[in-house]
Amino acid sequence: MKKVVILFLLVSLLFGCAPKKEVTNKNGSVYYEIFVASFHDSDGDGVGDLNGIIEKLDYLQDLGVSGIWLMPIHPSNTYHKYDVLDYMAIDESYGTIEDFKALVQEAKKHNIDIIIDLVLNHTSSKHPWFKEAKDAVMNDACDTTNKCEYYHFSKSIKKGYTRIHDQLFYEAVFWSEMPDLNLANQDVRKEIEGIVDFWLDLGVKGFRLDAPYHYFDHNTGLNNEFLAWLTTYVKSKREDAFMVGEVWADQQTVLNHFESGLDSFFDFASSNTDGRIVSALRSKNGHVLSQYLADYYNAIKNINAEAISSIFLSNHDQGRSAAFFLDEQQRKLAASIYLLAPAIPFVYYGEEIGMLGSGRDENKRLAMVWGEGKDTKSPKDADYAGEFNSSVKEQLKDKNSLLNHYKKVIQLRNQYLDIQNVKIQAYLFKNKHLCAIEYIQGDKTVMVVHNLSGETIVDELTGYRIVDQVVLSKKATIQQDQLTIAPYSTVILNK
Ligand code: CA
Repeated sequence: MKKVVILFLLVSLLFGCAPKKEVTNKNGSVYYEIFVASFHDSDGDGVGDLNGIIEKLDYLQDLGVSGIWLMPIHPSNTYHKYDVLDYMAIDESYGTIEDFKALVQEAKKHNIDIIIDLVLNHTSSKHPWFKEAKDAVMNDACDTTNKCEYYHFSKSIKKGYTRIHDQLFYEAVFWSEMPDLNLANQDVRKEIEGIVDFWLDLGVKGFRLDAPYHYFDHNTGLNNEFLAWLTTYVKSKREDAFMVGEVWADQQTVLNHFESGLDSFFDFASSNTDGRIVSALRSKNGHVLSQYLADYYNAIKNINAEAISSIFLSNHDQGRSAAFFLDEQQRKLAASIYLLAPAIPFVYYGEEIGMLGSGRDENKRLAMVWGEGKDTKSPKDADYAGEFNSSVKEQLKDKNSLLNHYKKVIQLRNQYLDIQNVKIQAYLFKNKHLCAIEYIQGDKTVMVVHNLSGETIVDELTGYRIVDQVVLSKKATIQQDQLTIAPYSTVILNK
């Protein structure tokens, strides 16, 4: 009996007392953005689809991501699908509701959550709501039974309005075929509740909100009132839901939107070819970058203790990030920086293999290069002239590939970084080429250090020991309170 008890205790010590920490996406694990049409085709028609994503879940799990953001999946008249025809259906070319259910189920088995793009600023001009509203307005037949109040009509022309005839116009800020919804209208909000219910019931973890900055024409107060209402509603249905908003504006404007209570907003200031990360790599100024990342994290926490920034190098509206950098080493370092930042990283599909594409939007959404001989087709109007030949298949075999670098760094993040229940501060080495952030949790501190320069750096450091690292050339060491770190390398330490 005693032996059994000891054995039980041993087993408990080995397994019971150290349960695998559950990965929760809000806590900062890595998301992956997918343009479905270009990701992976499962049925040979050349168009990527939901079953195609199911076939690649092993790949995504192996990459280490635990969340997927699907760009719009609803029926639409365009290739990009930001003009929604029906919020409670799947575009035929992508699959069916049954396929979507299967995707959510299979993703769950891979410990991956799904969030979907929710496009509430506007509908398609062919959406039944708009057709009904426009007919009623044109026939002077508006009453409480039709949808006139779902949109903004005007008898005179205004900025952002489209002409129906000389005495009738409607608001369509982005494009004449995408009329803006009247989000102040209670019936529209009822419709949105129905849409949210529908997708939460199908098992989505949450939503990526398209264009909330434009909900009320850049009026942060009104935008925030709507976002607060939406957040409250979504959380009343699923407490652990995750929502991230696209406010493509200056940093202060993004920060102001955190007052809405939304979980997260994208940090556009860090992204793109002129963003904080690329600028830091060019100037090799690690101090400025670490200070920025820590200050921004803390500024958000001061507004909403639960909220966290979402960080990325580039997305479907920007040129592919691989072209931002001088060489593969810089590409790797940029990935290390944002994947190990105190924010939720979003990898844009194909970024992990260094895909290229710029110019018109279609070029930023080219087909994923799997290297399987029957690859998915790119959008038909893509005209990107550059070549990209390195596939997932090849890079998986090459231990020094960008893809294997992404895998390694994401694994480090998942293993060492908690970004929700920590105090974040910049650590300023004497050498400003080092970018360092401390993640402080009680009496334990984890520190991430990157060398932004092309030279080996030796700098003073006491109290820390190396726990892991990303080795690009030589391993980092600590000897007699001196940290030695190779060019473009990253090291994780603790004390
Ligand atoms: Ca297909």
